[in-house]
Formats: sequence, structure tokens, C-alpha cells
Amino acid sequence: MPFTTLGLSPALARAVGELGFVTPTPIQTAAIPAILAGADLLGLAQTGSGKTAAFVLPLLQRQQAAPAQTPRRVHTLIVVPTRELAAQVGEVLRSLARHLPQPPKVAVLFGGVSVNPQMMGLRGGADVVVATPGRLLDLVAHNALGLATVQTLVLDEADRLLDLGFADEISKVLALLPPRRQNLFFSATMPSAVDALATALLRDPVRVEVPATPIHEPVIQQRVIAVDADRRTQLLRHLVKESGWTRVLVFVATRYAAELVADKLYKAGIFATSFHGDLSQGARKEVLAEFKAERWEVLVTTDLAARGIDIAQLPVVVNYDLPRSAVDYVHRIGRTGRAGASGLAVSFVSTATEPHFRLIEKRQHLSLPREQVAGFEPAIATPDAATAPPDAGVQARSAPGTGGIKGKRPSKKDKLRAAAALKP
Ligand code: AMP
Repeated sequence: MPFTTLGLSPALARAVGELGFVTPTPIQTAAIPAILAGADLLGLAQTGSGKTAAFVLPLLQRQQAAPAQTPRRVHTLIVVPTRELAAQVGEVLRSLARHLPQPPKVAVLFGGVSVNPQMMGLRGGADVVVATPGRLLDLVAHNALGLATVQTLVLDEADRLLDLGFADEISKVLALLPPRRQNLFFSATMPSAVDALATALLRDPVRVEVPATPIHEPVIQQRVIAVDADRRTQLLRHLVKESGWTRVLVFVATRYAAELVADKLYKAGIFATSFHGDLSQGARKEVLAEFKAERWEVLVTTDLAARGIDIAQLPVVVNYDLPRSAVDYVHRIGRTGRAGASGLAVSFVSTATEPHFRLIEKRQHLSLPREQVAGFEPAIATPDAATAPPDAGVQARSAPGTGGIKGKRPSKKDKLRAAAALKP
């Protein structure tokens, strides 16, 4: 079914086509007509389902019919948990609106960066605001924007908003909104606190549930490789080279490990760089854009920095260090196999981390075979879970002292230049 049958204007259909979307995803098919009709919506869907376009498209469509106001007043507020997600939703809005005769003015507001440019950006008002809750409230407190004119509220990734401790901020934001408005509520999971928030917020919502792609289905192939902890970098290098992987997201436990592993890979001739919370917001944006543009082969990252990253159809994810929890495991491997494309998730397991991985498997109702790669067979046999130290987890293995960065390190520009020189 083409997008035009969902009631979208030719300008929107054209932008959708330019993004390479041919048919709507299930959540788009269900949500777009409901949102166009003005209904409240409860969308149970994960990142990767196409949920962003599912609310952005109908909101843009409806906005075209509304007369432009001067100064601009916020008619759509999209609240998101992280700055990465804010930037991503802002990007989707701008690219889908690009052929509209009167594209809305979009303000993207998030913390961790100076407030001044965001305040300047709000001069003359804004039509659509995408914001993390804390910075939004700061800017309202500074009279940089008002929310009394909001007609549509979107709470995106509501479960993560509550997980990250934003319940109070959300209540404060809700108190600033007019009571008559459309509410769109998206969440990947529905624990009781999220359910209670949805119930309080939504009026006769249309419920759209997209079953999470069960992670044990072949759309994400999961492999577990047994390897000694101190040989993981060599194994990773071997796998990248032998398998011809070109865009790999590698998860490690610490910022230090991210730098160290990226440096070692780079020295071994792989275009690898690190991405973590110590980098400035500008540097994070830049590295991500370069990775998306395939200028880096490998991005070595921590859990925190990886939240909300959207890189369409990322082919390979590697758990160099295991995630702390089964939920983090799902988030991590969900970075691959997005929007129906197939992906590969590889986890390295050593003697010390085997019991931890078994717990993850148990929680996910998985039982994955342990593979060995010729030349990288572990020296020590995997112990029985009962005899392993109880906290044999992630933190123990990436501590400083396991290696160092010696000699002059090439700058990021040097590395990019070298990568460009090798491209045909
Ligand atoms: P989301 O769930 O909004 O984070 O979207 C996940 C990914 O799916 C993004 O990279 C989108 O560009 C992509 N996507 C969204 N809608 C479609 C579609 N109809 N067809 C193909 N890809 C899509």
C-alpha cells in the first residue's frame, strides 16, 4: 500500500519517497489515519518500528491546513527522554517537511549544551518544539517560550522518560498545557507507572500495538563467541577483516575502554573511533554523522551514549563487554535489524562473564550456542555458573591497567584523511 492512500499530501509523499520509504510500516498504517482524525493515541511500539514518521507525518499534514501565525506559537510539543532522540526527531521533522509550501519552524531543545543558542532560536516563536523535559522547563521559566497554545502533545518513549526519572518534570509540563488538546503517547513497554500515566493523559485513545519483533527471530541473528577477555580486540579485528564488516557498532563498558579499543583497532588498520559521554555535544554529533556517512567502519561506544542512536539498517552490533542487564541487551542489539532489515548481533563471552550471559539468556528465554573462532579458542574452559564469582560482570574487565595508549595518537582529522585516501 503506498503512502498516498493514508491521506498524505503530494509534498509529504514526495519527501517520504526521497527518504526511501516505499510502504508504510504497520504502526504508520494504523496511526496516521487516527492522528489525522484528531484522536488521542496509545502507540505501543519500539524504536525501529517507524513510529517517528507515524506521528510526524500526520502532524505535518494537519499543520498545512492551519493558517500561519506571527509571531509563531507552539502548536505541537514533542517530549523525548534524550538529546540524541530530540535531535533525531528534529531531523525527521525537517526532512519530511522539506517540500511543504510553509514548513513549520522547529525548535529542538535539550540540556547539556549552552542555553543561549536555543533561546535565540526561539525568538519569533516556534511552531513545533521537540524537547527533553528539564531544558523545556528551564526555557519556560526564562519566558523563552509558552505552552498555552499547544494543540498536540507527543510523549515519545514514555517508558524511558519515567526510567530516567522525569516523572516530576512531566507533571510540571502537563500543568502548563491547555486542557483541550490531542495527546499521542508512545512507549515500547507498559509497566504500571507508564500505564497509569497513559490512563491519566489519554481520552478514548486509539490503541495501536505493534508486536515487538521477538529478538530470537532470525531478523536479528545472535551469535555468542567464547574468547578469553584479553584476546577480544584481536578477535574483533579478525572478524571485521575476515567478514568484511563495514559499519559496526561495538559496545564496551567504560569510556576508557571505548577510547582504548578504538585506538587499538585503528592501529591495526581499521577505521575505528570512539563515541561516549565525555565528548562534547558537537563532537558527538559530528562523529555520528561521519559514521552514518560511512567514513568510519567501527564506532566503539558505551551504553549511555548509544541510547537513542538511530542509524538505519546498521548491519552489525558487537557486545565486546556484556551489557549489565537483559533490558540493555535488547536495547543494544535493537540497534541492528531495524525497520525489518536483517542484522547480526555478536556477544563475546569469557570464563568470567559466562554466568552473567546465562542470566541474560534466561531473562530473554534464549539459549544460544557458544561458538569458537579458530585461532581464538579460549585457553580456560568455561566454568560452571555456580562456581563463578557472583559479580563477574562488565566492570571488572575494562579497568585501566589492561593496556595503554602509547606513542603519538593520530588526530581524528588524520584518521579521516587516511580513510578518505583509501576509498575508491
Ligand atoms: P523509528 O522507529 O521512528 O526510530 O524509525 C526507525 C527507522 O526506520 C528509521 O531509520 C526510519 O528512517 C526508518 N523508517 C521509518 N518508516 C519507514 C518506512 N515506511 N519504510 C522504511 N523505513 C522506514
